[in-house]
Amino acid sequence: MGRQNLPRDQWLEIGSECPHCGERITEDLVYSLRPIPEDPKLALLYCANCGERNEINFV
Ligand SMILES: [Zn+2]
Repeated sequence: MGRQNLPRDQWLEIGSECPHCGERITEDLVYSLRPIPEDPKLALLYCANCGERNEINFV
């Protein structure tokens, strides 16, 4: 599992790279926002390319 710490605004704008395969991972792939969608601290998603589970920790 990959975990990245990124500013939320930056990640929503440009996404990031899957640490496993380098594919771009973006908001479109998110399946859950924690703890609540209105004020998320963590985005959970699976890479569309390799299937690796990723967590984006908003800082
Ligand atoms: Zn990947």
